[in-house]
Amino acid sequence: MAPRLQRRKPKKSSPVTPMVVIPPTDVSLEPPSLSKPGPSIDALGFISLDNNVPGLSQLILQKLNMKSYEEYKLVVDGGTPVSSFGFQSLQEMFQRMEDTFRFCAYCKALPYGLSDQKVLRHCKRCRNVYYCDTECQRSDWPAHRKVCQVLRLVAVDRVMEWLLVTGDFVLPSGPWPWPAEEIHDWDTWFSIRGLQLESTMNAVLSSHAMTMLWANLGRPRPEPDVLHSSLKRLMTDVLSRPLTLGLGLRTLAIDAGKTGGCTLHVVGASHVETFLIRSGDYDELGYMFPEHLGLHVIMVGVDVSTNLLQNSSPLPLEPGTIQLSGHKALYHDFWEEQIETGNLAHPDLVAAFHPGFHASPVLMEAWLPTLLLLRDYEIPTMITVYSQQELEASLQILVNLDMHIIACGANPFTSLKPEQVYSNPNKQPVYSSAYYIMFLGSSSCQLDKKQLEKKAG
Ligand SMILES: [Zn+2]
Ligand SMILES: [Zn+2]
Repeated sequence: MAPRLQRRKPKKSSPVTPMVVIPPTDVSLEPPSLSKPGPSIDALGFISLDNNVPGLSQLILQKLNMKSYEEYKLVVDGGTPVSSFGFQSLQEMFQRMEDTFRFCAYCKALPYGLSDQKVLRHCKRCRNVYYCDTECQRSDWPAHRKVCQVLRLVAVDRVMEWLLVTGDFVLPSGPWPWPAEEIHDWDTWFSIRGLQLESTMNAVLSSHAMTMLWANLGRPRPEPDVLHSSLKRLMTDVLSRPLTLGLGLRTLAIDAGKTGGCTLHVVGASHVETFLIRSGDYDELGYMFPEHLGLHVIMVGVDVSTNLLQNSSPLPLEPGTIQLSGHKALYHDFWEEQIETGNLAHPDLVAAFHPGFHASPVLMEAWLPTLLLLRDYEIPTMITVYSQQELEASLQILVNLDMHIIACGANPFTSLKPEQVYSNPNKQPVYSSAYYIMFLGSSSCQLDKKQLEKKAG
C-alpha cells in the first residue's frame, strides 16, 4: 500500500512527554487556556497544574526566581545556566521545585493564602501531603489514608534517587545467565541477578554516600529492608524503558539479529528519557537479545536533553554494540530529513513512552502527524501509558485512527516506583509504563489483504 503521508506542516506545538514532576494521569477534556498562542506541550502540562490548585504554577516559578515557563524550560534545556537564578546545580533547582509543591490537600490553600501565624505542615507518616491545620488533616484522612502508605515509599525513593544522580548507585550488569526467553518479568529478572544484586545493594547501603545522604537530611535512616526495596524499585524504574523496548521486539517478532543491526526510535523523548541517561542503561536490552548484531537506539523529540545530542551514524554497528543518540526535532521532521533522504535506516521498532495524546485535543493534534506516519509506513510501534483508564482512552483513539492493534495489556516490565500525582496528592500514585499498546499499520489495510487472500484462494 502506498503510504498516505501527512504533509501538513507542523504547528509550533510538539509531541513531548510532560515534565518530570507531573505524571499526566488526569484525562482533562479542556486544554487550559493560555495567554500566548502556540504553547509548547510542556507548558500545557505545567500550567494544567492550575486546574486543581489555582495559582500553583505561578507559585513554583516564583520560588524558582523565574518569570515564565519559557525561562524554566531554557534552563532545563541547557540554554541558560542555572546560576543565573541563584542555583548551584540543576539538582538543587529540582530539589527546590519539589519543595514548592505545597498546598493544603484538603482546602487547597497555598502558603501565601494562609493567615500570618499559620504554616503548611506535612503528614508525618508520608511527608508528601500538606495541611494548614489539624482540622484540615482530620477531615482529609478518609481520602488520604488510602494513599498515605504508598506515598511513604515515594518519600524514601525520592531521597534514594540521589544516589543514582550522583553515581553512587551503579546498577548490576553483565550477560544473563539464563536463556533470555525465560526472563519474562521482574521476578525472573531479579532471580538471575540474585547474588550480584544483593552484594551491590549491600555495598550501597554501607557506603559513605549513603550515610551522608541521611545525615544531611537530618532524618532517621530507614531500616535496611526498606532501603533494599527502594533500591529495587529504582532499578526497575531505570531498566523499565530498555526492557519494555525488548518486550516490543519480542512481541512484534522483530528480528533483533538482523544483519547491520536493529534500529529503535524513541519518539517524543524528553528530559525524562534523556536527562540522566548513561551509556550502559540500555545494555540490559542487549542481554535480552544476545544474538543481536548491533542495536541503535535513537531518541527523537524537541526536548531531548543536550547531553545526548550526537549524530546518529548511518554506518552499520559492530555486532553486539549498542549506540544511543538523540535528535532534537519533531518526529515527522526528523523522518523527512533523515529517513526519507536515506541518511538513516527505517526503524525496526518505534516506541513512545507516555505520549499522552489521550489527555487533551492539543496533545492529540501534536501527535497526529507522527501517528499517521507510523501507520502509513507500517512501522511496528508501541506506546506506554500510566493506567488502565489511559489504556482504554488511548486504545479508543488508535482504533478510531484505523490502527491495526497487535497487542495491549499490563507491562511485565513496568516501573515499580510509585509516582505521586503532585497536582492531586490523594490520587493513587501511578507507575511509569504500567500498560502498553502495540500496533502495526492500518486495520482496513489488513482486511484488504485478507480479502485479497480470499479472492486469490
Ligand atoms: Zn486546609
Ligand atoms: Zn500521609
